[in-house]
Amino acid sequence: MSSRRWTGGSSLFDLDLEGVLELIRKGRIERVGLQVPEGMKRSAPDIAREIEEETGAEVIISGDPCYGACDVDLTLCQEVDLLIHIGHAKMLEGTPLLDRVVYLEARMSSDPKEAVAKAVALLESNRVGVVTTVQHLDWLDEVLQVLEQRGIEGVASFGGKRTRYRGLILGCNYEAARALDVDEYLFVGTGRFHPLGAALATKRRVVAADPLTHRASVIDPQPLLRRRFGAIARAADAERMAVLVSKKPGQERMNLARKMMALGKKMGKDMYLVYVENVEPDMLINLGVGAAVSTACPRVALDDAARYNIPLLTPPEFEILLGCRDDYVFDEIV
Ligand code: SF4
Repeated sequence: MSSRRWTGGSSLFDLDLEGVLELIRKGRIERVGLQVPEGMKRSAPDIAREIEEETGAEVIISGDPCYGACDVDLTLCQEVDLLIHIGHAKMLEGTPLLDRVVYLEARMSSDPKEAVAKAVALLESNRVGVVTTVQHLDWLDEVLQVLEQRGIEGVASFGGKRTRYRGLILGCNYEAARALDVDEYLFVGTGRFHPLGAALATKRRVVAADPLTHRASVIDPQPLLRRRFGAIARAADAERMAVLVSKKPGQERMNLARKMMALGKKMGKDMYLVYVENVEPDMLINLGVGAAVSTACPRVALDDAARYNIPLLTPPEFEILLGCRDDYVFDEIV
């Protein structure tokens, strides 16, 4: 049973549960917490059932949203002997209670080579940086080989303390891309946010190869930039503003939030510091603010903007609004 496939939306993920089951059996662990990312949530009951049947431990599933490795359910952690955090690569070394957490990475079996071969036709450089997300990391060496066979030097680098693997980027962290001296990147993975983030964080050309659709495309960050400058312009009318600070261990940026508070006050804004578990549209409506600055996950402001009826800015966008900076900088957590 070692590595099993589980459904996440329309995708299949490989999870190696056997090591965790062994840990539970050997440690005679009685209570296990299970945290599953949103895209794989439907598999949570099946995974819980398997753990219970194989080990006899009680399993408590975290019902709260989970979007990344930054978001460990520390409240559930206090109720259990071991928390299994599924899907993401380990981060948050040194966080209290983390010794009770086992990160169980999910890997996608979808072969990216067809999409990478198509991406080659779109690349303009003969030396490119290769970046990906944790689900596709096992394919990195084969991707580099495909590039080499077509006369392109593919290079990959380690990033900073938030990412533990070569080539790994997060929606909030592109250090593995910025560490490379290249003019162009190949992103291997699904979705638009990571390649858009890579393009904005590096200010370089990005080609994306999608292992699920087998398609390749050149990433154009201009539509997102236009929407972001639209949000900045709309926020200019707001007198009362909130600065949001996340309670999640890997998203909490209180010092940055205080800096934003001080900047806003200095420029005559009516500023409020707000501590949140999850940023929700109703909460912002009830606060009665005209705009907000989110120091939580950058995806909240950039990816989920359509959910909010007030402009939600990242810290660098707020600095543009206040006239403290001219250039657009992608909000990264390092
Ligand atoms: S802050 Fe956002 S992008 Fe970064 S790891 Fe957490 S959920 Fe992912």
